[in-house]
Amino acid sequence: MAPFKLKKNDPVIVTSGRRQDRKKTGKVLRVVADKNRVVVEKVHVIKEYVRPNPQKNIKGGIVEREGAIPLSQVMYYCKECEKGVRVGYKGSGANKQRVCRSCGVVLD
Ligand SMILES: [Zn+2]
Repeated sequence: MAPFKLKKNDPVIVTSGRRQDRKKTGKVLRVVADKNRVVVEKVHVIKEYVRPNPQKNIKGGIVEREGAIPLSQVMYYCKECEKGVRVGYKGSGANKQRVCRSCGVVLD
């Protein structure tokens, strides 16, 4: 399996998917590696109905949360390039670093 190129807190830009989410940028909140998906802040916000559970002090009602989107719909957002870029690698082993394939800046 190819290495998972995105990590938590990476800045990303949405390149496809729901119209209202396209071109949005945000931080990766969570990586769902086994499903090849990421959760990005304020992107793919879905409404969910939560049942009230007084024992757990949950009021219930509609809550909004971010849903996971396919990795293929986001790109790393390089601050130098000011656009979505492909992530490459430099070095090996413990010295392996992620780099922007457009401008070469080290991302880690
Ligand atoms: Zn760059």
